[in-house]
Amino acid sequence: MVIMSEKKRIFLSSPHMSGNEQEYINEAFETNWIAPLGTNVNAFEEEMTTYTRTAGSAVLSSGTAAIHLALDLVGVGQGDVVFCSSLTFVASANPILYLGAEPVFIDSEEETWNMSPDALSRAMEDAQAAGKLPKAIVVVNLYGQSAKMDELMAICNSFGVPMIEDAAESLGSSYKGKKSGTFGKFGIYSFNGNKIITTSGGGMLISEDVDELGRARFLATQARDQAKHYQHSAVGYNYRMSNILAGVGRAQLEVLDDRVEAKRAVFTRYQEALSGIDGVMFMPELEDTYSNRWLTAMTLDPDKVRITPYALMDLLEAENIEARPVWKPLHMQPLFEACKFYPHAEDNVVSERLFETGICLPSGSNMTVEEQERVIELIIKELK
Ligand SMILES: *Cc1c(COP(=O)(O)O)cnc(C)c1O
Repeated sequence: MVIMSEKKRIFLSSPHMSGNEQEYINEAFETNWIAPLGTNVNAFEEEMTTYTRTAGSAVLSSGTAAIHLALDLVGVGQGDVVFCSSLTFVASANPILYLGAEPVFIDSEEETWNMSPDALSRAMEDAQAAGKLPKAIVVVNLYGQSAKMDELMAICNSFGVPMIEDAAESLGSSYKGKKSGTFGKFGIYSFNGNKIITTSGGGMLISEDVDELGRARFLATQARDQAKHYQHSAVGYNYRMSNILAGVGRAQLEVLDDRVEAKRAVFTRYQEALSGIDGVMFMPELEDTYSNRWLTAMTLDPDKVRITPYALMDLLEAENIEARPVWKPLHMQPLFEACKFYPHAEDNVVSERLFETGICLPSGSNMTVEEQERVIELIIKELK
């Protein structure tokens, strides 16, 4: 008999190497470019620029660093206001605090779980009436699903406020045929360990504005002026990605589309097996969008399902299966207690409901069908 602790762990989303990473790493070693510059860095930027069909990219040490630079480049500073999606990972908003600015959080809508255009409109009108528009808007594409870009962009444009698209979770997704991350003034990606492709840690800034990307590279390397001696006239950061890790990124990018297909297949298997259960709803995919389904997320209606997402998570954990709650909205975090929040509607706070009823299931592109069946069987046993 197999005892519980011996069952192989099924992770939420673990790194999935292609097998070609070592080749690029070896090249970096053979040429001794063990630095935050070199052929892998340049090539990874070019290849990502081609993949996203944008004008350029700057490869960085993390997605958080990319958000920080994007906010800096659009001029966010002390005392400014930045609007940000509430239903997201804290990294979307931390860089707002680094710059001494104040976040205002915007609720989700039901169709994409992302920023509500209704809530954003109200927040913008209030800001305009108060005579202080935000310096930027950080829009997140949760779990791979694009936000309602047409509506959100129209609002940003009508008030002349730049959008920064946090596409950390949506690399490989698209909205009306255009790659996720390419809608705002800047887009950011993450290559952290659990993301759809990984460099173990890393990120990227993309834009149509190549001058601004040049400025990003300058700021990311300590803002060193054009002089033989070390001279600096702006605050810089140490945010470039190493040439070794960029090699990992190049090999990962080669298999990105395969990873998206695998993630979508994982989603489909869950949906086919579980959507018949009364009270179970899966994260929707908005018409004319293509989600990378980075994580399969579903909600359990407390009136119809007898256990809570937390109880289900514990039951899965007892079988060595990792599941997670949906992100706790940032407006509910102690860190942001004092910040303003705009709900979707006065009597409808969507992000809180998604947090209370949501669960993210193991979604690794390297999870076997047998492993997923183990997860599905357990869930059916608990929910039916
Ligand atoms: C992962 C993530 C980030 C941060 O990326 P890092 O590379 O880990 O710094 C930012 N925003 C969202 C929505 C994320 O999921």
